Amino acid sequence: MSDVILLPLEEARSRILEDVLPLRPESMPLWEALGRVLSEDTHALLTLPPWDNSAMDGFAVRSEDVASATADAPVSLRVTGEVAAGHEPSELVAAGTAVRVLTGGMMPPGADTVIKVEDTDAPAGVAELPTAVRVFAGARPGRHVRRAGSDMNQGDPLLPGGIRIGAAATAVLAAAGHARVNVHRTPRVAVLATGDELTPLGEPLAPASIPDSNSESVAAQVVAAGAEPMRLGIAPDAYDALRARILDGVRDADVLVVTGGVSVGAHDLVKAVFEQIGTLDLWRVAIQPGKPLAYGSAPRPDGGHCILFGLPGNPVSSFVTFELFVRPVLRRMRGDAADQGRLSVRAELADDVSKSAGRRAFLRVTLEDRADGIPLARLAGGQGSHQLSALAQADGLAVIPETNDSLPAGSEVEVIRLDVEVT
Ligand code: AMP
Ligand code: MG
Repeated sequence: MSDVILLPLEEARSRILEDVLPLRPESMPLWEALGRVLSEDTHALLTLPPWDNSAMDGFAVRSEDVASATADAPVSLRVTGEVAAGHEPSELVAAGTAVRVLTGGMMPPGADTVIKVEDTDAPAGVAELPTAVRVFAGARPGRHVRRAGSDMNQGDPLLPGGIRIGAAATAVLAAAGHARVNVHRTPRVAVLATGDELTPLGEPLAPASIPDSNSESVAAQVVAAGAEPMRLGIAPDAYDALRARILDGVRDADVLVVTGGVSVGAHDLVKAVFEQIGTLDLWRVAIQPGKPLAYGSAPRPDGGHCILFGLPGNPVSSFVTFELFVRPVLRRMRGDAADQGRLSVRAELADDVSKSAGRRAFLRVTLEDRADGIPLARLAGGQGSHQLSALAQADGLAVIPETNDSLPAGSEVEVIRLDVEVT
């Protein structure tokens, strides 16, 4: 246990991620896989379009028949039939004839081009099939014809593994014939708050008690990271009860997040439980807010293991350490890149800031766009690790390097946008 030296953020994060792999893939119906990450490269199961078809409502003709057609000298063709979408053509387009086609209808054999209805004397819209049609414009071969395979050919690479399935990917997978897809399993995250002072949300506050806000915020962060929270409620500051509750979580979860009870207080028992049921690393990470961080692993009855996080109880510290350490783990488990998945921008500090040297500070700031330059980052309010109000107002976390103990207004800093997710 190394609880004296300050561990650089990157080192803590890479030690954690070293042990994390994407969760095993599972096959599921396409619709249910929305938001999941493809676990393998996909290929087109079909050729699309499967056959040449019309891009317009109009008439399928032979281009040579209408080569001379103009508004002043139209060409008359006999109409021998129709192909609507979803029906096979029954007619061959012979010289001097036309077949009415509707958008998406198969091209009838013999025709090599489509004259759109607006370039004929046939009425647009719902109308009886005419016996003849006058064509006012010629068309080169292939005009308004969607060629077979012009979108994809069977066997073509489609979407690579690692893509998160959104609406556009759903469309292409459906079109290519994938009724089911293989995606990474969603991480299950047990969420536990500890502290005798905590009251569940909605219950009247007992004397000396505060609402348990961490259970709510951590569960929300789990959902925002694309994982599934399992809420374990509140454990008291008592070893046996805490251990029992943590073991409940370990049984079914990929990750367990406990908030509170990891500092050096007389009732901080989380570390002892982690050590007793599995492994414990206790780090004082060189960040502000946020040290200390307890990290470990415990065996699950099914032969797997559950990653254990003990985050500081102060609500802002819990929020920031989840963002920095837990979120990348959940992202890797679900098949995304193992980073925070956030957009970082450059911004100019509007205020003087001060902090502890030797630690990287994450300050809650609002961002104000400016037409003439980079955005302005303003402290969102009180920066104490118990002050949630500033967190709710903030657009992001301004990163103040370890090397500084202060920075004057006007300095350029990196801001991690909390409101933008990057996949
Ligand atoms: P601890 O890490 O247990 O020493 O807690 C540090 C501070 O965070 C104390 O002021 C706690 O009351 C507060 N705290 C701990 N857990 C929670 C929670 N679940 N919700 C709100 N505040 C909490
Ligand atoms: Mg406590």
